[in-house]
Amino acid sequence: MATPIGNREDFSARAQQVLAAADVIACEDTRHSRPLLAAFGIAGELLSYHEHNEDQMTPRLLKRLQAGETVALISDAGTPLISDPGFLLVRAAREQGLRVAPIPGPCAAICALSAAGLPSDRFLFVGFPPRTSAQRLAWCQGFAKEPGTLICYESARRAAATLHDLAEGLGAQRRAVVARELTKRFETFLVDRLATLAEQVAANPEQQLGELVIMIEGDPRGDEERERAEQLRVLELLAAELPLKQAAALTAAITGGARNRLYKAALAARDQSDESARPHGQVGRETLD
Ligand code: SAM
Repeated sequence: MATPIGNREDFSARAQQVLAAADVIACEDTRHSRPLLAAFGIAGELLSYHEHNEDQMTPRLLKRLQAGETVALISDAGTPLISDPGFLLVRAAREQGLRVAPIPGPCAAICALSAAGLPSDRFLFVGFPPRTSAQRLAWCQGFAKEPGTLICYESARRAAATLHDLAEGLGAQRRAVVARELTKRFETFLVDRLATLAEQVAANPEQQLGELVIMIEGDPRGDEERERAEQLRVLELLAAELPLKQAAALTAAITGGARNRLYKAALAARDQSDESARPHGQVGRETLD
């Protein structure tokens, strides 16, 4: 279940009730969670469950669940499993047919997105960036063409270097938002182009403190390229079996592409294939541009 990411008022009444009634609370760091829970009058049994002991602790917690006990899972902040431990336990519990109930609450990624002003109808959460610049640049290539908004976590002290690499890997002019210290006293939102944000954060020591979420607008060309590739695939298949006009008309009907453009593409491809003895009906990628 989700615990506050900043403000104690973010801790829902239901989360408190469930934690108070649980037989055992699995948490990342008992020293961190005990005082937090005590502040809400919750004093149950705590077990440490973190990325270094998940393997050993999962069977122990599973046994307790199978014996009919209620196990609550929390992380240091926000929602368990979201760049936090818990996946192994939830999967194992599901495999055993045990009930797993989510208790909603704060999650830094969703909290940040809800106030960023970037498109939120489609987004990709990419976790924490790798530590070195070369790894970060390679990492960016995995989603450089993603049309949805990109969301990643980062510690504020690495933010300037990460923003710099994101600008290089994804494009200096992409719109981006840095949401820092959400729901805490020094909450800030910086909104600008990636390259400018990298400079702003590098020049401002305050922005290098605390925790932050980086959000970047998706690649607007990503969708278009995917659509064109799909049109090309369908056109190629149909052109191998049908007259070009019919192949283009059917491709337009199936994919929503423009019939004239598809017909021209098919003609150009046929001319090209006549010249270079391409197999019948094969359509070149360049002809759809
Ligand atoms: N499970 C958590 C969640 O649901 O948000 C995230 C845990 S992850 C280990 C910690 C990262 O979440 C931080 O490095 C930061 O990127 C982000 N984060 C957590 N609390 C935050 C806050 N109050 N403001 C901005 N980002 C935060």
